[in-house]
Amino acid sequence: MTTIRESPALPLDPTPEFLADLKRHSERLEQAEPAEIVRWAAETFGSRLTMATAFGPEGCVILYLLSQIAPKTHVFNLDTGYQFAETLAVRDRIAEKYGIEVELRRPDHTVEEYEARHGGPLYETNPDQCCHDNKIAVLHKAVVGKHAWMSGIRRDQSVHRAQAPIVGWDAKFSLVKISPLANWTKKDVWGLILKEGIPYNPLHDQGYPSVGCWPCTKRVLAGESDERAGRWSGSAKTECGLHTLEQDGSGI
Ligand code: SF4
Repeated sequence: MTTIRESPALPLDPTPEFLADLKRHSERLEQAEPAEIVRWAAETFGSRLTMATAFGPEGCVILYLLSQIAPKTHVFNLDTGYQFAETLAVRDRIAEKYGIEVELRRPDHTVEEYEARHGGPLYETNPDQCCHDNKIAVLHKAVVGKHAWMSGIRRDQSVHRAQAPIVGWDAKFSLVKISPLANWTKKDVWGLILKEGIPYNPLHDQGYPSVGCWPCTKRVLAGESDERAGRWSGSAKTECGLHTLEQDGSGI
């Protein structure tokens, strides 16, 4: 039987016993504070733990926690070529304040090559393909050799995220997925940011509650309560695909 305590060198095998083990840990950590969850993840997976961040407020909170608990944890950003300058500047401020160098992982193509290949910006005509090529395919490469990844998703962000366990099996990327902030609210996140002076993206003070690539991120109008309303505004798309379930329902 494979248990997560063994942290094998080979890719994990999601046997029924392994998945039951994950579920037990998830249930045990359900009442834990994010710091305890991050500590468990770092102690359990060591150098095989990674974290993806787009430098949203939740990601900045986890980076702060990592700086206190496991500052050598590998962290990466999917640098699509379409990020705001303000977003990339947060990376520098995090490095300066906490000494954590977030690795920028890029697609094999430049923006110019990609748009030339598709006769223009694909985010205008086929954003799902654009997200796949510039985010999902890049993440698949970024996690080679890793066994677990952490993300900053919160259950109250959207219906897609409402079922996220603290610890679960991510079939899309064949990794254990840990969501230390799943139980936190937006108020919890901002409370810690302001209390500890954690760097954050200044666009959040300019009407952007959620920040992604600039072509697909709009200011949210007063009265729009969905904090992800500014992402792919005007289309049915609400997620880039990193945090959605597989067709068989076995995702996060
Ligand atoms: S968010 Fe927009 S620009 Fe960024 S990868 Fe997805 S479709 Fe492309």
